[in-house]
Amino acid sequence: MKTIIANLKMNKTPSECKNYLMNLVSRFDKAENVELCVCLPFTSLAEAKYILKDSKIKLGAQNLSDYEEGGNTGEISGAMLKDAGVDYVIVGHSERRSKFKENNKLINKKIKVALKNGLGVILCVGESLVEKNTLKTLDSLREQIEEGLKGLYENELEKVILAYEPIWAIGTGKHASVREIEYAVKVIRKVIEDDFSSRAAKQIRVLYGGSVNNKNATALFKAKGMDGALIGGASLDVNMFLNLLSLL
Ligand code: PEP
Repeated sequence: MKTIIANLKMNKTPSECKNYLMNLVSRFDKAENVELCVCLPFTSLAEAKYILKDSKIKLGAQNLSDYEEGGNTGEISGAMLKDAGVDYVIVGHSERRSKFKENNKLINKKIKVALKNGLGVILCVGESLVEKNTLKTLDSLREQIEEGLKGLYENELEKVILAYEPIWAIGTGKHASVREIEYAVKVIRKVIEDDFSSRAAKQIRVLYGGSVNNKNATALFKAKGMDGALIGGASLDVNMFLNLLSLL
């Protein structure tokens, strides 16, 4: 069973999202071998809960506040997401790390708030191009995972999915090679083994994200140890996305 996370990013108004989901729901549920979660803009979550009610598609959000409630104008809490029907929330996406200056400490707080509120977490980690070129991928992944998951209990990892998303591959049309994905997945599982246990390392789901599309999906899914993918741009068009899912 492959896990696929669609990240719509800041695309689609509520009415566009509604059309997208209705179309997806009516045609997706035949795909037996895929666990699918769609991460929507906040404005579409509450309605999506009803559209997805009888479907096996999970509902995801793209961010949450590190605060629980109160005077934090413009923020969205874990409890709000849970009540809106959200199953998973993306934390640590590289666009938030770079454009919104989110660091590992903040990401760690967000993960704890998400778990406390019963949400699953999709933690994104990945190296920059400079880190890749200076052979720092291992160090970069280790630091992001160790600091991101600091203080978590091993049983909480059941609610955590790790997405290996090299920054240079996100939305660029450039993707990691199968070898690079396999290396990163190995590193990620080794960090989990060192910090938690070998059981946790085997069980945790590790996805790849970065310019996955209809043309490269079949080849990229040959990467050993990879449990699925996080897909941005190629998930925006339902026809194209369903075609991609049919290749898995
Ligand atoms: C993403 O948003 O996490 C992502 C992987 O985007 P894209 O597939 O467009 O590279």
